[in-house]
Amino acid sequence: MNNLKLVKINDDKLRSTIKIGNSIIGKDFVIIGGPCSVESEEQTLKTAEAVKKGHGNMLRGGAFKPRTSPYDFQGLGLKGLKILEKAKQKTGLPIVTEVIDPRDVSWVCEYADVLQIGTRNMQNYSLLKEVGKSNKPVILKRGMYSTVREWLNCAEYIMAEGNPEVILCERGIRTFETYTRNTLDLSIIPAIKELTHLPIMVDPSHGTGKLSLIEPMCLAAVAAGADGLLVEVHINPKEAKSDADQQLTPEQFYAITEKVLKLKKFMDEEIF
Ligand code: PEP
Ligand code: MN
Repeated sequence: MNNLKLVKINDDKLRSTIKIGNSIIGKDFVIIGGPCSVESEEQTLKTAEAVKKGHGNMLRGGAFKPRTSPYDFQGLGLKGLKILEKAKQKTGLPIVTEVIDPRDVSWVCEYADVLQIGTRNMQNYSLLKEVGKSNKPVILKRGMYSTVREWLNCAEYIMAEGNPEVILCERGIRTFETYTRNTLDLSIIPAIKELTHLPIMVDPSHGTGKLSLIEPMCLAAVAAGADGLLVEVHINPKEAKSDADQQLTPEQFYAITEKVLKLKKFMDEEIF
């Protein structure tokens, strides 16, 4: 891992913790839920209420969507951010939203509590440097073709600019398997804990792309030591403008988070 400033952390007290709203990432188990895209005020506010009811700690929602096709829905931009702001006012949930262009970082920070860097931009170095100059925590998704070494170097790009608040997020990588949207690499969770002090979350929605696999992967992520989960939730997934196949209904979200929190409690109190 030559030029990385890696610290082998055996003591949990030396791990990075990041305070966002009422949660401390790296200490509290954190659930981030919300739609793939912010589509309308009603959809976002109703989903935000559901995320809160289902023990979510933060609301996610894309106002800028990095779509594979330029003809697909690209997000509502500023209008989407204003909707997220309203959802925060109503629910108190901090906002996690993706930024895809370095020129947008400073003004997106006026609305976001956490900046997300998506898989397609993991190695967009000018974007990494820009979020590194901001004072917002950054969720850095793993590039879909990236090794752990490349991923951690991207985290270094952010931290080298003076922003230590980086949260890694495993979201699946491309393999020869096509049954799932990506191959969710859960073995990377304990590996990341061996290699760095940074917290790591897991996104089973993009990691599998399949509704039936989200619950078992959420539970497996908890068992493997993840610091939190990021899942897509939509009040009416069939009508979603992006990622319609993988978004949970509020009821599915409630069922999963109940089990996740039970497992987490069991692990903290009964086993370890
Ligand atoms: C997302 O979280 O909405 C997203 C686009 O994820 P990824 O970058 O992991 O594909
Ligand atoms: Mn999505």
